[in-house]
Amino acid sequence: MVIIMKSSASEAEIRSAKEAMEASGVRVMVSKGSETTILGAEGNAAKIDREKMEQYPGVERVMLVSEPYKKANRKYHPDDSIINLPGGKTIGGKKLAIIAGPCSVETDEQITFVADCVKKSGAAALRGGAFKPRTSPYSFQGLEDKGLEMLRRAGDESGLPIVTEIMDVEHIDAFEKYVDVIQVGARNMQNFNLLKRLGAGTTKPILLKRGLSATIEEWLMSAEYIMASGNNNVILCERGIRTFETFTRNTLDLSAVLAVKQQSHLPVIVDPSHACGKAWMVEKMSMAAIAAGADGLMIEVHNDPPHALCDGAQSITPVQFDSLMGKIRALASVVGRDID
Ligand code: PEP
Ligand code: MN
Repeated sequence: MVIIMKSSASEAEIRSAKEAMEASGVRVMVSKGSETTILGAEGNAAKIDREKMEQYPGVERVMLVSEPYKKANRKYHPDDSIINLPGGKTIGGKKLAIIAGPCSVETDEQITFVADCVKKSGAAALRGGAFKPRTSPYSFQGLEDKGLEMLRRAGDESGLPIVTEIMDVEHIDAFEKYVDVIQVGARNMQNFNLLKRLGAGTTKPILLKRGLSATIEEWLMSAEYIMASGNNNVILCERGIRTFETFTRNTLDLSAVLAVKQQSHLPVIVDPSHACGKAWMVEKMSMAAIAAGADGLMIEVHNDPPHALCDGAQSITPVQFDSLMGKIRALASVVGRDID
């Protein structure tokens, strides 16, 4: 249940409606938006007497919320959430945020070079995997701790915040130390223990990728796990889902961007690289994602895609990335967005 207060409601009226809800045994989340204050019940709202609440002074409307996610729900928080990155960049709101970098950190030279290039082109953050979830145990698994250190150095030298994937709760301390945005990969979207530990153990932004076969509701429930455990800084990332189609690596579900933005206040970005698996599709799908309302993109950029240790086929070069950024800049003004 959410209670929408009148814009004229006084602090005392808000407090008394909140206390009346709490008296029914629920916790109340107070969200002060640009227009109004919203009181959201967490827990068993069935005990709250709806008609009685409608009579409280200052109450505009009482709404029942059928969705199982609360903190992630737009009904509880009508304004878009804006997530702050170190250095002043943001994800969400009017400004588009483009995250770029290689699938995996390979060498100091590689990650530093790519960081410089994408920074010059206008990226908001640098990505690079150090712990890689590979389908085969015989494939390159990432440079692990060394990779984290290299990524951190490249981030510091270029001035870009860094984004990298966590695979295990045992790495949370190291990520807390080295990483600016912690990515939860598609394969771990329903690793509930990891989600809970990230929610309770850090306030760093969590980039939550959609699972390979996750419904939109399951994806939002995973965001809810992180938020319910204490970390509201969640960014969602659509990266394609499994369908019967095999031409592309996955099928980019752009309608999910609209669905999630309707249902949730959390920012949503799109990863066209993993969605399509083909470098030549990245530019057009990036533009489509921005046109569909995505708050940003995550794009794999490699200095030498044919020799990349991971995901070369879907990686674009720094030159291609620069050209893509020019097109996104032109598109941004058409769709009412800003970009640095
Ligand atoms: C990645 O970003 O490198 C990655 C492994 O992505 P996903 O979890 O979407 O497959
Ligand atoms: Mn990859």
